[in-house]
Amino acid sequence: MARIVGAGLMTGYLCTAQCRHCLYGCSYHGKKEFITPKKGDEVLRILKDAGVYSLHIGGGEPFLDFDSLVETIRSMNRYHIAVDYIETNAYWCYDKKSAVDKLTVLKKLGVDTVMASVDPFHIEYVPLSRPLLMCEAAREVGIGYFVWQDRFLRRLLPLDPNRVHTEEELKSLLGENYLLDTAKEYGVGMNGRALSLARKLYPLRPAKEVASKKPCSRILRGQHCHIDMYGNVIPAGCTGISIPLTEYLEETSLFDPEQYPVLSRLLTEGTKGLLAYAQPLGFDGETPCATNCDLCYRIRCFLREKAPTPEVGPDCFYEMMNGI
Ligand code: SF4
Ligand code: SF4
Repeated sequence: MARIVGAGLMTGYLCTAQCRHCLYGCSYHGKKEFITPKKGDEVLRILKDAGVYSLHIGGGEPFLDFDSLVETIRSMNRYHIAVDYIETNAYWCYDKKSAVDKLTVLKKLGVDTVMASVDPFHIEYVPLSRPLLMCEAAREVGIGYFVWQDRFLRRLLPLDPNRVHTEEELKSLLGENYLLDTAKEYGVGMNGRALSLARKLYPLRPAKEVASKKPCSRILRGQHCHIDMYGNVIPAGCTGISIPLTEYLEETSLFDPEQYPVLSRLLTEGTKGLLAYAQPLGFDGETPCATNCDLCYRIRCFLREKAPTPEVGPDCFYEMMNGI
């Protein structure tokens, strides 16, 4: 049975930003949909039974639907699952009073830590004044906070905090190669929207050369995976793969090639097996790919058209990736 440790609960995929490195390909172009109280309760009950005692909450941007965030935390409280921290881009901190009000509500629900994302990717969408105000409000309310990552905050402080900044402006502050340098320094998991960065960082090679017969070990790792608003497990560092929570915990059905033609192959024969499945359907073995995950994503995009299965989802992820 898979063991879930250090996991996160995603309350939605929608976001106010569209960061270049976003693993979940989140953006403001998606449907306004968030986790429902019923789904949240169902997922949390299963997680509790599976021995999960704490989770962080993220998205998408969880503060986009504050009611659903609050309901999710109430449900976690019912099942005695602690909130490790809530991840946010802090866009909602445009005035001190509303920031304090929201943090006060969260503190009363037992939340003790919020995390604001600050880096050269987020700053294209969220002015620095917002996370800074969140930190100030958190100090006033007496709730813990941290900035991810502090070193980027220090580097970005010379910029006007009241507006967002373009790639060109960031190049003059951080250097011509700041996008790739930041991705490397961050240790960005090169998946989701960051695949476009991977394609600039690594040489492109034909799919048939990139394919590996090594089974993908991330799928069932269980550490740092996420459970999304639909109740599906998204493996750690991976995206665009949806595994129903109960089946993830059981593991065995995921190896059934009839039910899970994509997962079963990735779990046993790696991307080589997936390529061998997709080629007779018309996938081109010469398709240029940067990495194994890039190849996996490209085959899955192809299969969504030719042989769709629920494991290749959710739809909103592929729609928000917008053909990357
Ligand atoms: S990285 Fe965070 S803030 Fe940026 S698009 Fe993704 S969810 Fe939104
Ligand atoms: S190879 Fe595929 S399933 Fe495995 S981590 Fe990469 S994208 Fe995810």
